[in-house]
Amino acid sequence: MSRVMRAAVADGRGGVQITDVPVPQAAEGWVVIAPVGTGVCGTDLHLISGDYPHGRFPVVPGHEFAGYVSQVGPGVSSVREGDYVGVNPNVSCGACRWCARGATNLCVDIRPVGVAIDGSVAEFVAVPQRIVFPLSSAISHRAAPLIEPFACVLHALERVPDWRDQEIAVFGAGSIGLMAVVLARAEKAAGVRIVELNPVRRAAAVELGALEAVSSVDELSVAEFDIAIDATGHPAAIDAAVSALGKRGRLVQMGVASPSASVPLRPYEVFAKEISIIGSNSLAEKYGESAERMVDLQGDLSRLVTATFPLEEYESALAVAASADQIKVQVSS
Ligand SMILES: [Zn+2]
Ligand SMILES: [Zn+2]
Repeated sequence: MSRVMRAAVADGRGGVQITDVPVPQAAEGWVVIAPVGTGVCGTDLHLISGDYPHGRFPVVPGHEFAGYVSQVGPGVSSVREGDYVGVNPNVSCGACRWCARGATNLCVDIRPVGVAIDGSVAEFVAVPQRIVFPLSSAISHRAAPLIEPFACVLHALERVPDWRDQEIAVFGAGSIGLMAVVLARAEKAAGVRIVELNPVRRAAAVELGALEAVSSVDELSVAEFDIAIDATGHPAAIDAAVSALGKRGRLVQMGVASPSASVPLRPYEVFAKEISIIGSNSLAEKYGESAERMVDLQGDLSRLVTATFPLEEYESALAVAASADQIKVQVSS
């Protein structure tokens, strides 16, 4: 194995370079993986511009990935060289009260792969074995990097019990919003409607089974929703999402907003309608379930991948991922 590899390195001030870096070695309890593909997501765009709180720089981005184990460190027993694996990118401390409750996504010392420690936009990536999951060989290389974002959708809907019987409006038909549509249809939920400005994304939503997809909340045929999911992170959409809620309505905030963004809150509306505002951060412990469900759902979910770039063209992948006409952009190593 050569001592250097190609990797993308972000400086946290908007810069990202494809360069030679040392190949990571598997320390005790760690595993080195050769990624087969990495999804680009909104978090990466925030991270690279320096607008994401957990970022530690310089860092190799890439947290939505799967690949083949290339080396195992001493004490690793759960996987072997050559195994096909996926990774829950949240490295948690295992000792704080949130970890004790199983809410590892809220760990006080969380160090996400591809954010605080080097990620997968590289020929190799090293991660602790406890976040590595063996994958079924039935899951395609294109679908496997979608397990992580789909796990975020499973977690978000677990945050709103009884969601299947309710009227749901999803704001934003990027990959997360569209994954919610795929899940709702797979679960035979009452119905999901989409509010999305971009016509390409609206068409994708209808193709995947949304009951309607419109550009403004006023155009929806349902006036009041039980659940509104924000998958945009944009204050105007979040404000519209709260306004669309009926009595006992629940807002699920899973879009990543800028830490400095704010939305006007109307306390009378929260009181009078008994509205709940529910945050959903990352994937908690849903990676394993998501990997299982990917076997059956990969047909629909992998349609969300609209462009793939080689590692050397990561900057183009980022630029294209920022365009509203793309859904999910991937990088192959
Ligand atoms: Zn992501
Ligand atoms: Zn912890």
